[in-house]
Amino acid sequence: MRPAILNPLFADAKSLDGVGPKLAKPLAKLGLNTIKDIAYHLPERFVSRRAIATLDEGGEGEQVIVALTPTEHRAARNPGRGPYRVLAQDEAGNIAALTYFGRASYTAKKQLPVGEKRWVAGRLDRYGDMLQIVHPDHVETESSTLMGRVSEPVYRLSEGLTQPRLTALVEQSLGRLPDLPEWIEPGQFAKQDWPIWSQALKSAHRAPSEKARERLAYDELLANSLALLLVKADSRRRKGQALAGDGSLRAKLDLPFKMTGAQERSIAEIEGDLRQEAPMLRLLQGDVGAGKTVVALAAMLIACEAGKQAALLAPTEILARQHFETLRAMAAPTGVEVALLTGRAKGKERESILMGLLDGSIDILVGTHAIFQETVSYKDLGLVVIDEQHRFGVAQRLALAGKGKRSPHTLAMTATPIPRSLTLAQYGEMDVSRLDELPPGRQAIDTRVVAQERMEDIVAGVERHLATGQQAYWVCPMVRDSETADIAAAEARYAALKERFGEDVVLVHGQLRPEIKDANMERFASGEAKLLVATTVIEVGVDVPSATLMVIEQAERFGLAQLHQLRGRVGRGSEKSVCLLLRGNELSETGRKRLALMRETQDGFRIAEEDLELRGGGELLGTRQSGEAAFRIADLDQVQRLLPVAHADARLLIDRDGGLTSQRGEAARVLLYLFERDWGVQLLRGG
Ligand code: ADP
Ligand code: MG
Repeated sequence: MRPAILNPLFADAKSLDGVGPKLAKPLAKLGLNTIKDIAYHLPERFVSRRAIATLDEGGEGEQVIVALTPTEHRAARNPGRGPYRVLAQDEAGNIAALTYFGRASYTAKKQLPVGEKRWVAGRLDRYGDMLQIVHPDHVETESSTLMGRVSEPVYRLSEGLTQPRLTALVEQSLGRLPDLPEWIEPGQFAKQDWPIWSQALKSAHRAPSEKARERLAYDELLANSLALLLVKADSRRRKGQALAGDGSLRAKLDLPFKMTGAQERSIAEIEGDLRQEAPMLRLLQGDVGAGKTVVALAAMLIACEAGKQAALLAPTEILARQHFETLRAMAAPTGVEVALLTGRAKGKERESILMGLLDGSIDILVGTHAIFQETVSYKDLGLVVIDEQHRFGVAQRLALAGKGKRSPHTLAMTATPIPRSLTLAQYGEMDVSRLDELPPGRQAIDTRVVAQERMEDIVAGVERHLATGQQAYWVCPMVRDSETADIAAAEARYAALKERFGEDVVLVHGQLRPEIKDANMERFASGEAKLLVATTVIEVGVDVPSATLMVIEQAERFGLAQLHQLRGRVGRGSEKSVCLLLRGNELSETGRKRLALMRETQDGFRIAEEDLELRGGGELLGTRQSGEAAFRIADLDQVQRLLPVAHADARLLIDRDGGLTSQRGEAARVLLYLFERDWGVQLLRGG
């Protein structure tokens, strides 16, 4: 149970004054559902402004506060198109335009009546030969209100929120912080000269404060390390069952290829682990296409040889289906029974699967998280394989899989090559097998960067490609702020391509109904459809060997790790594959380097390491926006600097007080709940 002291922090955001359903929506969009979420929504940066008496004192691009009197309102000639401008003059008669786009013009009309002096805060820019302030941050009738805002936090927003609004909510939330017991080791706390928790949060919102942010980051890293160590300790404590395979089933496999050295080595490592009574906790790391599936199959067959069942957990319905088809086909000569269970199985179908699991007639179960629901019981589950691309979920899933009397062995698979220095943060102290050798005969993917402007040529190229009978992917970007807008863009691209290619094109994105999504995917996988237009949902893996062209729109908007994953969808057959990275006009230096690196190499481990170097590599830790990030507070730099410290501290605490029962142990429990790593604590009770 969550410690009661945390209740005020876990109260609904709607309990704040002024937050109703209307405001709760944009807050939820940012992942801000509770008081705690809002208190931890740290500023992206701070603006500091200078008060100036006249416009000519301000520099271009400078954040200023200035008194202006509106002289004229100019609506766009074509309403709804261009901006709404309010011309205003300072006391020396210099003129600036206050410029508003979209619905903000309503605010302008109200706030800036002609002839009445206002205090305006915002960024001074030049538009042609005119000064302007686009969307002023504040417009006030009194100077005093603004002078208190010389330095101000700037928060990430979503549509429907404004900076002042969010700032006020943050302040309200900070007013509700309880006093929490200190979880940081006293020596460490003193040495680092960190503020106490509540003070750290307050400081982090009110001024740039490195110490405060550092402490908050450390807290998060400590929580993570503690949770991972608890998983590890728990698995050591648990009784598993030694599984010795005699090779009889594996001998019946009739694979059309010879295993690579890396595959053989990994299987041997897994076999060694399975022979032990202590449950295996192993991570199989290998690039897209490295051949993880057959390694997983070998592991599952070992379990079957030992008379046990095995389960494979996939992150999505599509992937579960694909794994099921592949595994069933590969395993056919062995005679083991492979079944599929997803959330969509209902009624009789579901019942018969549940029966089969219970009486042991099903040997291998493939599915989504549905396979771990409480109503699903196995006769004798010996091995769980987790095919998981979203790193943070792994440990949590492990905790889940660890339920039950005798723990099954666990093999987690990831296609995200992670730099060695970050493996610890992501996976704790799991044992790692690396598939660092691709199956032979893979052709290099011809990767080219093309200006998006050349759309006509690109589409013509796709047409020539499809004419040869091969297939292609077309990926539309997901941009951070609005999923709806992204999907609209993908729909528009689909519509345009459909005019050209007719029924040969299908569309897949996250807001389609699952049946439709699967049906479209199926049409592509079967070769009936030739061109698949998708948002990044295809990232999590489909295997269509005759798809040999990939077009990625606005490639500069993707992270390197993501581009690498996407590109891995082609080059899976024996035909030569091509990847076209379309770039927009405004390419940053980092963007340019990323695309160049993509052209240069196909080695995922190298891409991961260089991404880290490039410092644009935030996405290695997941995108913060999508909520998949391992860390919400700690940035990459803090992870590298503080993780070893936090990990050592966590280790020391667990060594001394593995049950977290001492005073500091209790405080650590509070920490684990605070960062929603409480699955670590759950294990303690179950242990
Ligand atoms: P991933 O690691 O991305 O899951 P898969 O297991 O899907 O990769 O394998 C990709 C493709 O490579 C599959 O078509 C698989 O049959 C094939 N493959 C796997 N191992 C080998 C091998 N040793 N030699 C040749 N092809 C292989
Ligand atoms: Mg795979």
